[in-house]
Amino acid sequence: MAKLTNKKKITKQSAVVDWNTALRPLLKRYRGRKHPLEYQNAYQLIVMIVLSARSSDAIVNKQAPALFTAYPDFKSLSKADPESLYPLIKGPGYRHKAEYIIGIAKDVVDTGTIPEDIDGLTQWKGFGRKSANVYMSQMGLKAEGIIVDLHTLRVTPRLGIATSDDPKKLETELMEKIDRKHWHQAGMALTFLGRETCRPTDPHCDDCLMNPVCGYFKEQK
Ligand code: SF4
Repeated sequence: MAKLTNKKKITKQSAVVDWNTALRPLLKRYRGRKHPLEYQNAYQLIVMIVLSARSSDAIVNKQAPALFTAYPDFKSLSKADPESLYPLIKGPGYRHKAEYIIGIAKDVVDTGTIPEDIDGLTQWKGFGRKSANVYMSQMGLKAEGIIVDLHTLRVTPRLGIATSDDPKKLETELMEKIDRKHWHQAGMALTFLGRETCRPTDPHCDDCLMNPVCGYFKEQK
């Protein structure tokens, strides 16, 4: 089991790291990597982001085609009954998710627009900062934050770049350490690092391109 045995020590070691420089190889590795959600447009991305909460991108990718055949846009979804969505979006929290995506569709139809900032996007029920940051990153909108998901919460304390267990606080720590121009890319890259290399119980440290600056790796040596 890979545990952080000395979080304070890791943080102290990592305080001297210039993270904008240290993250360069990671940003390079994942530059241009497509998001695992297989969306075709903003409508599909928003719906799939909501459905991916407490689920997996792979499951959402399987469910989405039937959902989008039945409800191809915000207008058709805004007129749906929640119950009619249940068979199409089965999984954790499906009742709430049905309400969330219908509510979002109604809002977009009513206002005639999709918000382009984090305040607007996070006014939707079921769409928090992580969701908004994913959407803004994929749409190329001006970064106002950094994606923090379960992977980020695991990877960044190991690296030593951030320490909080609270997603919002950890996001603030990252925003203080990383230049704004890298926020979108860094958020995605840290997530990919967690998905592919820095696994929960078996981090592949010897093969990790971040091991020269990683506090956890140094502590193990
Ligand atoms: S070296 Fe890489 S895989 Fe190992 S703990 Fe650090 S970030 Fe994770």
